[in-house]
This record gives sequence, C-alpha cells and structure tokens, in this order.
Amino acid sequence: MRRILRGTPGKIVQRYASSISRSLRNTTPTAYKILRNAVARVEQIGSLGYKLHLNERERAANEVIMDLKTAEIQRGLLDPAKFSPGHHIFTMLTKIKESPLFNILKSMPKGGVLHAHDTALCSTEFLIELTYRKNLWICITDEGCKAIGFRFSVEEPTMKAMEGCTWEPMESFRERRGEENVRQYLMQRFSMYPFSNFRSNNQAWIHFMGIFILLDGLLLYAPVWGDYYYNALKEFHEDGVQYLELRSLLPQLYCLNGEKLKISDTVALYKSEVKRFVSENPDFIGSKLIYAPLRGVEPKIVDDYVKTCVALNKKFPDFLVGFDLVGQEELGRPLIDFVEQLLKMPEHINFYFHAGETNWFGSSIDENLFDAILMGTKRIGHGYAITKHPFAMNLCKYLDIAIEVCPVSNQVLQLGQDYRSHPAALLIAENVPIVISSDDPSFWRATPLSHDFYFAFLGIGPWSADLRFLKSLAINSIKYSAMQDKEKPAAFKKWQNKWDVWVEEVAKLNNK
Ligand SMILES: [Zn+2]
Repeated sequence: MRRILRGTPGKIVQRYASSISRSLRNTTPTAYKILRNAVARVEQIGSLGYKLHLNERERAANEVIMDLKTAEIQRGLLDPAKFSPGHHIFTMLTKIKESPLFNILKSMPKGGVLHAHDTALCSTEFLIELTYRKNLWICITDEGCKAIGFRFSVEEPTMKAMEGCTWEPMESFRERRGEENVRQYLMQRFSMYPFSNFRSNNQAWIHFMGIFILLDGLLLYAPVWGDYYYNALKEFHEDGVQYLELRSLLPQLYCLNGEKLKISDTVALYKSEVKRFVSENPDFIGSKLIYAPLRGVEPKIVDDYVKTCVALNKKFPDFLVGFDLVGQEELGRPLIDFVEQLLKMPEHINFYFHAGETNWFGSSIDENLFDAILMGTKRIGHGYAITKHPFAMNLCKYLDIAIEVCPVSNQVLQLGQDYRSHPAALLIAENVPIVISSDDPSFWRATPLSHDFYFAFLGIGPWSADLRFLKSLAINSIKYSAMQDKEKPAAFKKWQNKWDVWVEEVAKLNNK
C-alpha cells in the first residue's frame, strides 16, 4: 500500500479517485488516513495564501498569531456566545478592542483600502469635533429635537429649508439641549447605532442613506472637505493602511458666502491634501480617486457622467483613474440599462463596479455581475452574490478580477448575520482574488480596516488560515489597486519596509 501512495497529494487523490467513488472499506486504516490527508491537503493548497513562503522571522511571528487565533477559537467552541464573528459588530465592538489578536491585526501593515466612500471615512469623534466649527447652523424639526441638516454661513442660511425645518446656530442648539445630550444625539445620528437589526435590508439602506444626506451640509463646506479627507488619511494611516482608493460622488463644494465651486475644484482639493499628507508621512503610499456618481438615474445622465469622468481624467490623469456607480443596487438601475453609455468610456479609464450586493438570487442585481465582468471591470465592489454564479466566479479567477470583500458592511446592511457563513469563504477556498475593504467604516464606528481584517481572518477564513493569508491580503491590496505598473514597485517597497518591522516586533513575542 505504501508503495502505491507515494507522490504528491494531488497525484495520490487522482490515482485513487475511482476507488473513492466505490468505497474504501476494504483498505487498511493506515492507507485510508494517508489518502484522507492527501484530500485535505489538495483542498488547502488551492486556498488563499497557502503557497506563499514565509521566512524564518515570519514563521516565528506566525506562531504568535496562530496561538492567539487558536485561543480565541477555543473560547468560542466552549461558549459560542463569546465568539465575536458569530455576532453583530455593534454588540461586540467593545469586546473586540480587548482582543489581543485584534490588536496585533491593528498594528499590522495591511496595505491599502480599495473600497471606501468619500463621506463615510472618519471617526464619529472627528465628526462631532467638526460641529464645533465657527458659523455652523443646524436645521431642526420636531419641536427642536430632530436634526435634518447642517450649513456653514455667517447669516441664517437662505437656502430652502428641508422638511420644513428651521435654522438655529449650532452654539445655541448646544446651549439649549445641553452639550453632552447633543454629543450623544449626534453620535447616534452620525452612525447606524444602535440598530443591529432592521426589518429588512431596504430599511437599513434608508437609515444608511439618511446619514449621507445629514452629513452633506457639514462636509461639503470647502474648508471642511479638505480637512475631513486629511483626517481620514491620518486615521487610516494609524490603522496600518498606507494607500486609499476612494470612490467619490465628487459633489460641488460651497463657500461661506454660498458660492459653489466646480467639480474639478473638489478633485484638486483632494489632490492637494494627499500631497500634503504624503510629504508629512513619507511612508504613506498615496491615494487615487474613482469617480462614483449615483446609479438611480436615467441613462442619458450616465452620458454626462462619462463626459465628466473623461474631462476630469484629462485634467488629473494620475489621480482620477476609474469609474463606478453607487447607491443601493436593488433600488437603482441595473448596469445593463447603461451599457450603451458606459461602452463609450475610453479604454484607459478603468471600471470598478459595485455588483452583486444582494441576496436576491437570479435578480437583475445578481446579473450586474455579468455586465461588470463583460464591460471589463478591474475589480468588483462586494460581489456578495458571485458564489451563486460559478461561471462568473471562474471568469474573475481567470481574468484576474479581484472581489472587494467588505465583511462589516455586508453585516450592517443586513446581507448576513454570522461571519462564518459569509460567501467569501468560498472565494478564499477557491483562491479567487480578493481584497478586504471597509466601505463606510465611519457609520459603524469601526476602525478604518482592522475590524474587517479581524472578521475575515477569524470568521470567514478557515481555522488554518495564518500569516500567509494575511500577507496575501496585504499584497493583493497593492497588486489589484489602480496604481500603474510603474508605480507598484515603490508602493510594495513602502509596505515591505513596514511589514518587516512589524514581523520583527511580533516575532519577539514568541517565547518558544
Ligand atoms: Zn460601496
């Protein structure tokens, strides 16, 4: 028997495939175990990161990380109520902060965030700080209790009141309601808390879009817009992120006198803030923009989107490099409605389409996956439904299209509850290219990327997923970014420098 079972696991399995289909009842237990191990190994070899080689220091660091991971899994096995990936992030946020595994992941250089939206980046604390700025007005309704919008203005804003609300200077609102009450109130209004359970994902989306609308007047003020982005880069950098690829609606910003700036000014402001940040933090790789206007529009509007995108790309060729459409896929129009317009996009401007962010199998949202792939998307935003479409999934693998997996976003927007049943598990097992991103971390009060890494590592990936898995995710975030090929070596170097330092620090914790 031994003689026959020599060779690679794949060869052994192949040789025995016909026997397996009958039965191995007549074989010896030893031969059975060898074959069984070979089957398990073939599966493992095909999964994300498995083939990556770790050097000696990385192997030492890996032992530390795997000890922490195993301990957390063991605790979860004894009492599943304590296993964070089995529960909603809102109920686990404080507990996760105490997790040694989470804290190691927090310090890990994770590469870049490739899926995040312009006004959902910064911490709630930073948003509250912004409400202390001079000349801010708040528009309130329900007898002065409910905030509808904000606006910076010297005099009372003249713009049409929304939902019949009335304007009040922020200072007087704070005085009237009490500083701590206002802080608590805004903490809630600026995030999805405490709603860990909506009646449906549509309801979750209404609440979610409501936050974007509430924040508009606060963030679209030109001086705040620049500071918000700079602060986002700072918070992302502190969370082990060195590159940010941002999807932006590119709204027109306003000045204190009410004057509106051009869209190209919005891009220019972004660009100057990145430049300032990189000059102050030379280990930061940089940032690029994906123009991502709303999808719930008539096809002729998409014609204008394409023209705007081409013009902006001409003006900012190294910075504004891609196009996407955003908003709830289930309520907006499917990509197929816009094919005629989108095919006019010049080849050098890449698509990074949101597609398949749904649980409706066989719906047009599901089929957005086909259109995204056929129109040459470089990555797919979410692709939550892609595992139900094996052909599309294989196309991603062979065309090297990365799926931007955003675990926390999928949970908060009610696609799934338990991270262990997230569909990306299959992408990991099949080694379909993925990157991990955070989508809108501000609204779930999560860290810019660490929570998503934590759930992907502990909840979605297999128990055996180790430092090779984590390293692959970091490498993927640079490999599949919109950076040009000539920019990538320098980006990898900046990441590798930080990676080596981090590995050394973690390896030192290894007392074995
Ligand atoms: Zn998104």
